[in-house]
Amino acid sequence: MAKETLNPFEIAKQQIDRAGKKLKLEAGLLDILKHPKRELTVNFPVKMDNGSTKVFTGYRVQYNDARGPFKGGIRYHWNVSLDEVRALSCWMTWKCAVMDIPYGGAKGGVICNPKEMSKNELERMTRRYASEISIIIGPAKDIPAPDVYTDSQTMAWIMDTISMETGFPVPGVVTGKPLAIGGSLGRDEATARGAMYATREAAKRMKINLKGATVAVQGFGNAGYHYARLMQDELGAKILAVSDSKGGISSEKGFDPKKVLVHKEKTGSVVNFPGTKKVSNEDLLELDVDVLAPSALENQITSENASRIKAKISTECANGPTTPEADDILFKKGVLVIPDILANGGGVTVSYFEWVQDLANFFWTKKEVDEKLEGVMTRAFEAVWNMHDEKKIDMRQAAYMVAIGRVVEAYRWRGIYP
Ligand code: NAD
Repeated sequence: MAKETLNPFEIAKQQIDRAGKKLKLEAGLLDILKHPKRELTVNFPVKMDNGSTKVFTGYRVQYNDARGPFKGGIRYHWNVSLDEVRALSCWMTWKCAVMDIPYGGAKGGVICNPKEMSKNELERMTRRYASEISIIIGPAKDIPAPDVYTDSQTMAWIMDTISMETGFPVPGVVTGKPLAIGGSLGRDEATARGAMYATREAAKRMKINLKGATVAVQGFGNAGYHYARLMQDELGAKILAVSDSKGGISSEKGFDPKKVLVHKEKTGSVVNFPGTKKVSNEDLLELDVDVLAPSALENQITSENASRIKAKISTECANGPTTPEADDILFKKGVLVIPDILANGGGVTVSYFEWVQDLANFFWTKKEVDEKLEGVMTRAFEAVWNMHDEKKIDMRQAAYMVAIGRVVEAYRWRGIYP
C-alpha cells in the first residue's frame, strides 16, 4: 500500500474541504458537511451453530439527509470500522447528489467474517442486526442495500424481518432484493451499465471512437464482468485484459468476457483462459489501452504507479481506486478519470428505481429501467463535464463541486432548524 493512504474518513473530509474552498462555502456549512448526522452502534448476541453465543458489533451511519431519505449499503467484513462506515456514508451522500436522485447518504456494517459463517448463522446475524437498526431505518427514513459480502439474500432477510416486526410486507425498506419480492429488473448490471454510458459520454467529448477501442478491467465481479461485457456487446470495444484476486489475463487480439466468465465459473479464476497470457494485477493497470476500468479494490492507482498509466480514460467502477495524489498526476498527464461517485452511480440509481417501483407497487420493463438509467447517467455526466471544462479542474473535483453544491442548495432552502 502506498505511503499516502490515510484513514478513509480523513480523506473524505479533505475532499469536502477542497471542493468547499472552490465553492467559497462559509465555515458553518463546511462544518455541517464534515459531520455525520447520526451514528448508531449496536452490540448484539447471535446463537452460533455449535451452541455458543457470540456478540457482534454493527454500525449504521446516517451521514446527511438534506436532499431526501438516507441511502447506502451494508457491508459484512472483518475490517469494518466506524471511520470506514463514516467515510462510505459520506461518499454515498455525494454519489446520490451527483446522480441527482432524491436521497441522502448512509452506510452500515457488521464486523464479522462471513466466509467462516454458515448460512444459518448469517441469517440469524442479519435478522438480529436488522432488528437492532430497525429503530432508524424504513422506506421513508433510510433504505439499506447490498455491499461487500452481502447480497439479494441478505436483503430478503432484512425485508422479511422488518415486515414481520411491522405486521405487513415492507418491500421499500431495502433495495437489491430478489425479483420475487419487489426487486427491479436491471439491478444486477446497473453499476456496469451506468459506467458504460459514462465511458461513452466521455469518449464522445474526447473524440475517441469506442468501436474497436481497447479496454482493460481490473476485477471480474459484478461490476467488472458486466462492464467488460457491455463495453464489448453494446459499444463494440475490444477487451484486452481482465483480472481477479488470483491474477489477470491479457491478449492482443482480445477475448469475449462471456466466455471468460464460463471459464471462471468452472475453474474459480479468469487465469489460464485459453489464448491469453498471464498479467499481474499491477501490470494490468499500466497496459497500453484506451480505457482502464479499476473495478475491484481501493487504492490501486497511487503516487507510485500513476505516472505509468497509459489509458486515455479511467472509469472507476470500484469505490476509491485512486488516491488524491494519483489524481493530480493523472490530471497533469491528461488521463480523464471518471470518478467513482459518478462512474458507478448507476447502481444506486437503479436502487432508487427499485424503491420507486416498490412504493408505487408498479413494475417496469427492463427497457424502461435502461432508458431511465441512460437519462440519469448522461445528465449527471454532463453536469460534471461542464464543471470540469469551465473550471479547468479534474473530473473528481468537478463531481464533488456539483454534488456538494446540490446538498448546500438544499440547506439554503431548508435553513437550520429550529
Ligand atoms: P464483487 O465481489 O462482485 O467482485 C470483486 C472482484 O474483484 C472479484 O472478481 C474479485 O476476484 C476481484 N478482486 C478481489 N481482490 C482483487 C485484487 N487484489 N486484484 C484484482 N481483483 C481483485 O464486487 P463488485 O460488486 O463487483 O464490486 C467491485 C467494486 O465496485 C467495489 O469497489 C464496489 O464498492 C464497487 N461498486 C459496486 C457496485 C455494485 O453494484 N456491484 C456499485 C457501486 C460500486
